[in-house]
Amino acid sequence: MKVLVVGGAGYIGSHAARVLRRNGHEALIYDNLSTGYARLANGFEFIQADMADSKTLTSALRHVDAVMHFAAHAYVGESVENPRKYFRNNVEAGLTLLNTCVDCGVQKIIFSSTCAVYGVPVKVPITEDTPRDPVNPYGVTKLVFERALEAYDRAYGLRFASLRYFNAAGADESGEIGELHDPETHLIPAALEAVVGVRPQLEVFGTDYPTPDGTCVRDYIHVNDLAEAHVLALKHLEQGGSSVAVNLGTGRGTSVKEILDAVEKATGRPVPRRVGPRRPGDPPALVADPSRAQQLLKWKATRSLDDIVATAWKWMQNSRTVALHK
Ligand code: UDP
Repeated sequence: MKVLVVGGAGYIGSHAARVLRRNGHEALIYDNLSTGYARLANGFEFIQADMADSKTLTSALRHVDAVMHFAAHAYVGESVENPRKYFRNNVEAGLTLLNTCVDCGVQKIIFSSTCAVYGVPVKVPITEDTPRDPVNPYGVTKLVFERALEAYDRAYGLRFASLRYFNAAGADESGEIGELHDPETHLIPAALEAVVGVRPQLEVFGTDYPTPDGTCVRDYIHVNDLAEAHVLALKHLEQGGSSVAVNLGTGRGTSVKEILDAVEKATGRPVPRRVGPRRPGDPPALVADPSRAQQLLKWKATRSLDDIVATAWKWMQNSRTVALHK
């Protein structure tokens, strides 16, 4: 199938484009480069345009069978400070994409959703039946889009997969692409930055949580495991399967301290660190129950935490070499 990968020059979208290709599909990347990087789209047909630009979208959608939608702003803290930016892009421009799909007869869409739609869950591991009750504007914008998909399915027969990611991490095994955020706020790349001295130290956000070692617990999932779930969701829709909403996680919780141990093991160097206060809005533990994705999509995460850290480290070394020689 030919797939329009909206946001394909970003972290997860660029991995999905490669995994699509490795599975015999064709990927057309569409990205406004507001947070994406042209180098992550290297080697792909690429349209630089905004999702709100319905004219350019229309001409792109005429040539594809399905859409994967990754083009969202995704910083929780920023969404609290500047909700307007989040509603404009994630909801308003997102609906332009959805409406244009309907108008062009594109009936299959895979959507990057998030465990943030659950807010602070009443219990972990989190199943898809957990009430969706987001606690920040970012999560609200993702929930609005999920709701729009449900309504469009009922009314227009659009079929969708809402894939609720837990903590995406790691990089393509090739070392050619990986996580590239400015500023970098995510734990694993931030810890690697502390190892190489790009930042003086890693700040551990709280050690007084009600968890076994006092630091927050998350479900870290390799970005290529996520990308493979997208391809399986596409296959599910292609074979006439009905719309789905599933968690994408490993079912395994890892604490901040355990991540820092894994980073030290992979790099053979210490992670300079200091303990800071809790980061507002961080729930103590978020871990997926991924059994529905296993059942409906025949998907399971296959990469370990060591794979995640090793590929992230390889990518950081490669991208620093590229940056130094630019
Ligand atoms: N974290 C931390 N120091 C950092 C960045 C993150 O202690 O510099 C913690 C954070 O509190 C959370 C976990 O690491 O418990 C994962 O955070 P990240 O920002 O990577 O992902 P999130 O869970 O917010 O999507």
